[in-house]
Amino acid sequence: MNKSTTGIAFDPIFLKHDQQGHPENAKRLESIIFGLQEKGLLEKVKHINSRSAEIDEIAICHKKEYVEYVKEFCKKGGGYFDPDTYSNQNSYTAAATAIGSSIDLVKAVIEGELKNGFALLRPPGHHALANRSMGFCLFGNIAIAAKVALTQSGVSKVAIVDFDVHHGNGTQALVGDDPNILFISSHQYPFYPGTGSIREIGDGEAEGTIVNIPLQAGVGDNGFKSVYKKIVIPLLERFKPELILVSAGYDAHWEDPLANLNLSLTGYNWISRELIKSAEKICNSKIVFFLEGGYNLQVLSDGVANTIRGLLGIELFEDPLGKPNDEEPDIERVINELIRIHRL
Ligand SMILES: [Zn+2]
Repeated sequence: MNKSTTGIAFDPIFLKHDQQGHPENAKRLESIIFGLQEKGLLEKVKHINSRSAEIDEIAICHKKEYVEYVKEFCKKGGGYFDPDTYSNQNSYTAAATAIGSSIDLVKAVIEGELKNGFALLRPPGHHALANRSMGFCLFGNIAIAAKVALTQSGVSKVAIVDFDVHHGNGTQALVGDDPNILFISSHQYPFYPGTGSIREIGDGEAEGTIVNIPLQAGVGDNGFKSVYKKIVIPLLERFKPELILVSAGYDAHWEDPLANLNLSLTGYNWISRELIKSAEKICNSKIVFFLEGGYNLQVLSDGVANTIRGLLGIELFEDPLGKPNDEEPDIERVINELIRIHRL
C-alpha cells in the first residue's frame, strides 16, 4: 500500500442491513458509494479487505452476553431490538464486518500503510451501549476502534470528535472512563438522546476528557466555526493524540429531515478540513472518519465526497444546496462556559 493513500472500509454486506421506510436504510450508503463513483473518487482511494470481527473484539466494549444475543437474534431473522433499532438476518454480520474492517483500516493508518481513511459503514454506532442497542446502533464501532488503537505501538492517546447532530452517548459511555481517550461531541441540545450537557466532563482520572458542546437549534456554519476555532482545535492541540477518529454524521445539515442544526455542505467541508489539518499538525496526518448518521441522501453523497476530497488533498468541494436563510442564534455564552469549564 502507498503511504500517501486514503483508505476506505466498505463491504456490500453493509447494504443488506436494511429496512424499508426506516430513515437509517441501505439507500444512505448506496448514494454515498454511487456519488464517489460518479465523481471519480472511488478509483483514487484504496479499498481495504474487509473481515468480520470476532465476538471477543466486539466484547472489548460490550458485554459478551449482549454480543451473543444480537448474533442469535439476527440468525433467527432479527426484528426490533428497541423502538428505533431494527435488525434482519444480515445485521449481525454487517455490524461485525463494520467493526472488523474499520479496526483494520485504523491499524493500517497507525502503521503508516495508509495516510488516512474513511470507514463507510452501517449500522452506525455512536448510540450503542455496553449491554444494549440504541438509536439505530448495535455496537460502538468507533469506541471499539479507539480501544484497539490504544493497544498498538506508538499510540498512547486517541481523540474522538463527534460532529453528528446527536450526542454520542454510546461512545461517551464506552470510553468515558479512559483518560487516554478524549471525546468531544458537538450536538443539538436539548434533543435526542437527552444526554450531552455541558457539565458531563468525565469522572475521576478521566475528568476533562469528555467535552460536550450543546448547541441550540439553528446554529449553523458561523457557530460551528467559532466552536472549532475556540474549543475543538485548541483541545486537540492540548491533548496531543497520536490518532484522531471522527464520528462523521451529516445530520447537522439544514436539509436533514431528523434534526434542526443549520450547517451547510460548505460548513461541513470546512469542519472536515480543519480536522484533517489538525491531524497533519498534531499526529502525522493520522485521522480516520467513521460514518454515523445523516438522512438526506444528497447531503450524505456530497458531504462524504467532500470529506474524502479533503483526505486526498483535493481542494475542490461541492455545495449544490447552499445555505439556509435563517439567522443564527448567538452562542457566545456556551463558548465562554466551555472555555471556563475546560480551562482553555
Ligand atoms: Zn445522528
